[in-house]
Amino acid sequence: MNANETKRDDVDETGARLRQTLADTFGFRSFRPYQEEIVRAILRGEDVFAVMPTGGGKSLCYQLPAVCAEGMCVVVSPLISLMKDQVDAAITNGINAATINSTTTGSEFREIAEHIDHGRLELLYVSPERFNNARFKETLQNANVSFFAIDEAHCISQWGHNFRSDYLELGQIVDEFPNCPVAAFTATATEQVGEDIVSSLKLRNPFRVKASFDRPNLFYQIEYKDDFERQLLDFLKECPGESGIVYRSTRKSVEQTAETLVKHGYKAEAYHAGMSDADRIAVQDRFARDETPIIVATIAFGMGIDKSNVRFVVHGDLPKDVESYYQETGRAGRDGAPSRCLLLFGYQDVAIHRSFLKDYEDETARAAAEQRLNEMVRFVETDGCRRVNLLRYFGETYKPRSLDGSVDEENADGCGSCDYCVGACKRVDATIDAQKALSAMARTGNRFGATHLTDILVGALTEKVERFGHNELPTFGVGKDKSKRYWRYLIQALLTQGIAELDPNSEFPVPKVTSLGWEVMRGSRTVEIVERPDRATKKARAKAVRNASNLKDSLNLKDRKLFETLRTLRAQIAKAENVPPYVVFNDKSLVEMAILKPRTDKELLDCSGVGVRKLQNYGEDFIDAIERFLEEN
Ligand code: ADP
Ligand code: MG
Repeated sequence: MNANETKRDDVDETGARLRQTLADTFGFRSFRPYQEEIVRAILRGEDVFAVMPTGGGKSLCYQLPAVCAEGMCVVVSPLISLMKDQVDAAITNGINAATINSTTTGSEFREIAEHIDHGRLELLYVSPERFNNARFKETLQNANVSFFAIDEAHCISQWGHNFRSDYLELGQIVDEFPNCPVAAFTATATEQVGEDIVSSLKLRNPFRVKASFDRPNLFYQIEYKDDFERQLLDFLKECPGESGIVYRSTRKSVEQTAETLVKHGYKAEAYHAGMSDADRIAVQDRFARDETPIIVATIAFGMGIDKSNVRFVVHGDLPKDVESYYQETGRAGRDGAPSRCLLLFGYQDVAIHRSFLKDYEDETARAAAEQRLNEMVRFVETDGCRRVNLLRYFGETYKPRSLDGSVDEENADGCGSCDYCVGACKRVDATIDAQKALSAMARTGNRFGATHLTDILVGALTEKVERFGHNELPTFGVGKDKSKRYWRYLIQALLTQGIAELDPNSEFPVPKVTSLGWEVMRGSRTVEIVERPDRATKKARAKAVRNASNLKDSLNLKDRKLFETLRTLRAQIAKAENVPPYVVFNDKSLVEMAILKPRTDKELLDCSGVGVRKLQNYGEDFIDAIERFLEEN
């Protein structure tokens, strides 16, 4: 045997061992992209810096080596709720895990410290402020620490969106524990934040990974807001019984929207920074436990949740930049199952964001924020596949992938999973119509609102039109071949594209022609808008739902019934064990069970997410439920 072969054998042996642990402990059949490489680097004793998208499976990258390696892995994580859920999830997988944070009492601490002293703990989650505590450090110094994992590592960077000064102290780890590798994880893709993390943590020539930011299971849909409530309610009808988040930009709109949903029979609650800590924690908890499936929230909501079965994220207003849009939509579909992201925006949103820009004291920061806002507007207005445009923002060239992450060469044109790619909208030239609308504005002295302008365009002889003699204008009735709705929509598009703007001096929203608008009138600039023929939209929506939105839709009627039975069982178990349902099994596991109908331990182990410990704890219950179902049906 030559040296090369020996080496290959070694590699395969490690690989086999890792895959065994992956199956036994976590119940997964294969690694997600880069997980195996990261695990191997940690086990080789190297530092790691990994940028992976939300839902990419970062926890497994340190939990799996925590199980394989001698000693204990210490995870620093910023939020108590996150730590709690992760520890619960690890324990249901049979991992010896605990957490120490500001809520840990003295006696709890002593108990955990004793486990550490006896070398019984495999995984310890700590908050950064606890980590900086002298007594705790002493405990760690005397323990056998295999490696450190820094989760949400962007919290160390002042450039990141979530700076935490406690994180800065983590730079001391490499000096105080020189023999322990340090692995840092984040979903923040910017270069600057990345470099900050590596230098602040003093990572030693780390193994670097930057995974694709594509989230193949998310369906992207962007629409103009013309009747927010109706659009939202229509959308929710397509996601019956599912759990999701509706983002709104102000506390008031959060409360109003939550009220509307409740009035229409949805179980929804509001969440915003104006509520007390206790109320917010309670709402978040009920969401995690599927007791309140829908949360209407400001962007204050979401950081602290790992809930894997969020099936939709709706933006009721335009996000302030593409990064925010990406992170917020990213909270959908962590379990890898199909999920939907709907953005509804209007020109008022752009105007509101612009007005906030004035509040910046620092000119460079203001200019940067303005540029990010402009890029956001460009993103929603740009022709073509949403996914291609989104990934381009992160400097990535889109490669179509199938749901398991493998590259899908056949489908190479678009992503097939956004409103553009399913043909729900297309770009059309609207220069002539734009000229008509702009001329209505200009000829009436840029003093009238969109409703009146629309009346002029379609030739509606209203009292107001007559009073101002606007029926005498050459523009009167030039647009009667199209509906009022179309003209209002067109005016909105002109406003978002900066071809018209709202008069800042007017008390009422009054669109007026801008310099870009004059170019359009003179014929030196063309205008395109997104066209949504109503029938096509409906058909495409239905198709989109079938293809992309709803996990249960991929099931036939009988399987769907079994899925619901299993979901009820899951809820009962979760309640009895006082953990969120997705910690027992995630949606994907239940769907596989509903399709495969396992009746033996071995068959159940073949379902995604079923490992040895979960089989022991829940196997009998689930197999019983499946057998009973099959007898009855
Ligand atoms: P991140 O922290 O990167 O956002 P998580 O670690 O929370 O992502 O993982 C997201 C979801 O993906 C979890 O439900 C997890 O159980 C699941 N997951 C992770 N790795 C795998 C895998 N190899 N196969 C299947 N599911 C996985
Ligand atoms: Mg995570």
